[in-house]
Amino acid sequence: MWDRGPRDDPSNGGVLLRDADGHGPILRPQEEADIHVRWQVTDTAQEAVVEALWSAGKPAVWPNCPDHPNTHPLNAAISPSRALVWACPLSDRVICAVGDLPAE
Ligand SMILES: [Zn+2]
Repeated sequence: MWDRGPRDDPSNGGVLLRDADGHGPILRPQEEADIHVRWQVTDTAQEAVVEALWSAGKPAVWPNCPDHPNTHPLNAAISPSRALVWACPLSDRVICAVGDLPAE
């Protein structure tokens, strides 16, 4: 369930990319960037992460859906309150705001 709160802050649309050593850029479009632009950045970052996992010989599923482990990745989506969120593509359940995924 999506609840209103600090996570609705559009500035949470940043995406951190890390390699195996934990280094990487933070992609953070300007706060006033259109939500669809920030969605596009998130979607592109997700593709990059999945390709990096595949190249490293790891399961190319990211971010893993906590409701359906090891089956499918979460989808970047725009919540009704116009925040960027990760959601399960099967149930449409919002898992968390983009940027709030727990570290694996
Ligand atoms: Zn799921």
